[in-house]
Amino acid sequence: MAWLERGDSPKKSNEILRQFSEFLWYAISIFLFQKTCMTENSKTKEFYKSLPKVELHRHLEGSLRLSTILELAHAWGLNLPIADPPRLRALVQVQKADPPTSTNFLSKFETLRLFFRSQEVIMRVTREAVADAAADNVRYMELRFTPVALSKAQKFPLDEVMDWVIASARQAEQDFGVVTRLIASVNRHESVSIAETVAGLAVDRLNNGIIGLDLAGAEGKFPAAPFEGVFKEACKAGMRITIHAGEWGGAENIIEAIQTLNAERIGHGVRIFENPYAVDLAIERGTTFEVCPTSNYQSGVIGPEDTHPLARMIDAGLCVTLNTDDPSISNIALSDECYLACEQMALPLDTLKTTISNGLQASFLPNSSQEKLLNSLNLELTGAIQ
Ligand SMILES: [Zn+2]
Repeated sequence: MAWLERGDSPKKSNEILRQFSEFLWYAISIFLFQKTCMTENSKTKEFYKSLPKVELHRHLEGSLRLSTILELAHAWGLNLPIADPPRLRALVQVQKADPPTSTNFLSKFETLRLFFRSQEVIMRVTREAVADAAADNVRYMELRFTPVALSKAQKFPLDEVMDWVIASARQAEQDFGVVTRLIASVNRHESVSIAETVAGLAVDRLNNGIIGLDLAGAEGKFPAAPFEGVFKEACKAGMRITIHAGEWGGAENIIEAIQTLNAERIGHGVRIFENPYAVDLAIERGTTFEVCPTSNYQSGVIGPEDTHPLARMIDAGLCVTLNTDDPSISNIALSDECYLACEQMALPLDTLKTTISNGLQASFLPNSSQEKLLNSLNLELTGAIQ
């Protein structure tokens, strides 16, 4: 050993050896401790995929498989860069180099809308959305769709489009084992009369799979107030209400959604801390937040260097759930959002378990149908997360 110089006394040599053994023992202990901590605390993507999950906020129009898009673009000879799949992908999916802005995020829908050209395709993408959720171990899903967006390309009657989605979702539920319910979406930037028509058709289908009504669209520029009558009527008829708010607009939109439009749930709501009254109101009413972290970063609602308010919302006592928003546009599955929350935002596994249970409890399923599903979900989650 290099540090034992010739001429060192045996006593000094023994002392050096003793110190070296102590150091070695200390280093090995630290290494083993760190290894144990890593094994215990870090979980793989496969682990999050294996957990039973609940999704409350997923848009059908943002759930098209890339393989389906490519296949249809070829079959129909669409004026798209078919021979260059990476370019086509960039038109429908957020890329790393894309600017994190709402304009860029929303631009992907423009290309996606070209594909809703037949009953067969609308039914196929609905089925594939449920199949993809099943492959990610989602047990309950509320899939929202915008009848106006699906009907636009071929001017399909709205009621027919809604019936196609219902029929396909129902069949897919049986085939893939994901309990699936539907939410009809209307846009703020479209007319109140369109919203009225869609809400009326949705109410007619209340016992046929559509259980909720959602207000989406350009939140920054278009207030929700003109839609008050539509949502109150739908609510009176038994429709459950969720409103996109506090995403591209401020916390006052969350207050308006709860107080004026009877929202039980808020899509996103990540700007809630801009107004302390919004926090108090949401806690008092038991409002649930459908939080979608990846979508928030990609659309620039949360800056790339900013901390997502997910943990702060939970700490404040708000009821929070984790969701994908548009899995195909964001190139994610719900398990990726769980991974992001726990492995990169330091959400404890126990808290993740609560957010998954929250999802079922805040679902628009009637209590009687929730109970059995919730018991088996909690049992399985407890087994997986000790
Ligand atoms: Zn959304």
